[in-house]
Amino acid sequence: MSRFYYKCRDVGFDCSYELDQPTMKDIWAKIRIHNRYAHNQFEIPPEWEKKIGDSIQEK
Ligand SMILES: [Zn+2]
Repeated sequence: MSRFYYKCRDVGFDCSYELDQPTMKDIWAKIRIHNRYAHNQFEIPPEWEKKIGDSIQEK
C-alpha cells in the first residue's frame, strides 16, 4: 500500500505543516482545510491546485 505525503513548505509557505495520508482524497481534504485556516485560501486557486498536486508524493 502506498501513502501520500505533502509538506506545506514545498509549495512556498513558511510553514511546518506536513501530511501523511492513505489516499489522494484524504490528503486533498486536509490540505483544503489547512490552507483555509492557516493561509487564507478559502478556495484554492487553480494555479495552486497544480502546484500542490505536483508536490504531493506517493511512496
Ligand atoms: Zn501551511
